[in-house]
This record gives sequence, structure tokens and C-alpha cells, in this order.
Amino acid sequence: MREFKIAQPRTADELAALLAETKEPVAMMAGGTDLIDELKSGVATVGLVADLQAVAGLAGIVPEKDGLRIGAMTRIVDLAEDAAVARDYPSLRQAALSLATPQLRNVGTVGGNLCQRPRCWYYRDPQVVCRKKGGFNCYAFQGRNKYHAIFGGGSCYIVYPSDLAPALISLGAKATIGTAKGDKVVPLEQFYALPEIDVGRENILDKGQFLKNVRVPAPKAGQKAAYVKLKERGTWDFALVSAAVAGVVQGGVFAEISVVLGGVAPIPWRLRKAEDALRGKPVSEALIRQAVDEALKDASPLRENGYKADLVFAALKEAVLAAAA
Ligand SMILES: Cc1cc2nc3c(=O)[nH]c(=O)nc-3n(C[C@H](O)[C@H](O)[C@H](O)COP(=O)(O)OP(=O)(O)OC[C@H]3O[C@@H](n4cnc5c(N)ncnc54)[C@H](O)[C@@H]3O)c2cc1C
Ligand code: SF4
Repeated sequence: MREFKIAQPRTADELAALLAETKEPVAMMAGGTDLIDELKSGVATVGLVADLQAVAGLAGIVPEKDGLRIGAMTRIVDLAEDAAVARDYPSLRQAALSLATPQLRNVGTVGGNLCQRPRCWYYRDPQVVCRKKGGFNCYAFQGRNKYHAIFGGGSCYIVYPSDLAPALISLGAKATIGTAKGDKVVPLEQFYALPEIDVGRENILDKGQFLKNVRVPAPKAGQKAAYVKLKERGTWDFALVSAAVAGVVQGGVFAEISVVLGGVAPIPWRLRKAEDALRGKPVSEALIRQAVDEALKDASPLRENGYKADLVFAALKEAVLAAAA
């Protein structure tokens, strides 16, 4: 591991000032479960690590009049065990419990999960300088791409690995971004950015900015939701495909619906065409098939990952039927 300095800001303002002023490459460390791996392998090289552990006010789940505020430094285990989350946002709890291992959930944080770097094996290999690391080629495009994107690729075919992101986006969460000039709030869906915008990063955070919290709106009357994650192994694993469904169900019909997939695109992937097909009609397997077929018209599978199309149907069927029940 290359040497780096560590700073331990005490407040969000101190953190924002530090990030804005520092000239050398800087990384934020929350639980460190992803970042330390990147530093040890040499995939990430920084001069300064800003440790977020001591920053006041970044951890905790706080009920607000219009929903729940979840601080970026909230540990995933605390999210999974929170009574309000279990009562009002069961799909978020399912997503939290589905990710990694108990040990990692004890240390990893919500902000770290939402800002974690991709798992593409070419990206994680320090010897490979692919397009995401400033090179010219995407080696996954014609190489080994079993775990890569079927939607939204182009210059880079990573899949965004977070389990929390699809669940939170389906629930209408917003992200608060801390900056030296004050906070800014965006829908969490818009927090993520496709490789075409900047292949080197997965979100819209500019230099000097950090994720402060996410806010989930209060559940509407009749709101139902489910999160389904399909993995290759029974033990811990990242999603091959995951589906988060949330909506308002009246008599077996979704009056409102939001569908977000994980494991299929460089960002959490909203299936608006499937939402349109599912909204306002009695839920059935045939309707879900029709909705998925419509959505898959936008898919461009690579040589080794065409199987993901079948998994999209399997995950969505299970999630839609569970939410509608
Ligand atoms: C073996 C293993 C299995 C895993 N399985 C899963 C899984 O199944 N599903 C899943 O979703 N994840 C999985 N993960 C990823 C894991 O969830 C994340 O590593 C963890 O949530 C990251 O949290 P952290 O606090 O440790 O982040 P860190 O490692 O501290 O940070 C991760 C990244 O986010 C940045 N960051 C952290 N906090 C902020 C912030 N507030 N603002 C801006 N940037 C920030 C850091 O700079 C870094 O680049 C797995 C990880 C491992 C090692
Ligand atoms: S998918 Fe992205 S990270 Fe992976 S090799 Fe291609 S450019 Fe690099």
C-alpha cells in the first residue's frame, strides 16, 4: 500500500472545506470495507484519506415529519435493525439484509454502500488500465463479461453493485450532497450518472462534495414494496440481477409503481417501460411477462451475459407478485 496522510474532520463544514482545499487526490473513508481494498491493491492511489468516522451528525436514522432521514455514516446493520425501517420500508430492510456478510454490515455504512466503486474484474486488477482508469479500451466489451451490463453500457459495462440503491430509488429517496457552499438535494435516481457523462466515476459528486444523507418519503396509504436479489451462490454474493418494486396497490392493481433493477447497468436501472405496462392493470404473470418484454427491447446483452434477460423476468415476477400480495 502506498503511503497516505489521514485527516479526521469533526464537522461537515470542516470536511467540505478540507475536500475543497486539498490539491492532492483525496478519498473519503466511511467503514473502509471497499476503500481499504482499493488502496491495498493499488487500484486507488491517494495522498490524503478523509476519515468520516468523527464527523458529527453524519450517522443515525432520524424520523422527520415527511419521512426518514438516514445519515451517510449509518451502519448497514443499524439500518437493517431499525424499527421504523422494518415497519414502513420492508424492501429497504430486505436489501440491507441481503448484502455482504454480517461482519461487513457491522462496519459498512449506507453512504459507503451508495458510493462504492464497481466490481468489474478488469477495473479491480491494478495491472489493467481500462477506460475507467484513463486507458483507451473497455476490456469487458470483447473479453469476459458474464457479470456485466445489459443496459446502459457503451463506453463502460460495469454494473452498479449496491443493493441499497435500487430499493431506495424505488421508494423515492432523495440524496443530500454536502458542499463547501451549502447542501444540495437531488433525487437519488439522479445521483448516479452513466459512463457517457464521465467514465471515471459513477455519480455526480464533484471535487469537494460528499453524500451527507438520504431522505425517504413517508409511505403512502396502500404502499407496498419488495426487493428480490438473485445471486450465483447461496452464501454472500453481489446481485446477478436484483429488482426493487414499490407502489400503491388497490385491489390487486398498481395505481402507482416504481421498478428499479440492480446488477444490469452502470447505474441503478429504472424500468419505466415496465412501470407503464404494469400500472392500472390486474397483476398477473402474463402482464409481468409483457412488461419485461417491453423493457428488454432496450437491452444489449454481451457475449456471456444474455442469461440476465431471463433473470430480469424471474426477479421482477417475484418482486411484483410479493408487493401486490
Ligand atoms: C466481500 C464483500 C462482499 C460485499 N457484498 C455486497 C453486496 O452483496 N451488496 C452490496 O451492496 N455491497 C456489497 N459489498 C460492498 C459493501 O457493501 C460496501 O463495501 C460497503 O457498504 C461500503 O461501505 P463502507 O462504509 O465500508 O465504505 P468505504 O469502503 O469506506 O467507502 C466506499 C467508497 O465510497 C466512498 N464514500 C464512502 N462514504 C462516502 C460519503 N459519505 N460520500 C462520498 N463518498 C463516500 C469512499 O470514498 C469509497 O470510494 C461487499 C463488499 C465486500 C468486501
Ligand atoms: S466495464 Fe468499465 S471498468 Fe470494466 S473494463 Fe470496461 S471500462 Fe473498465
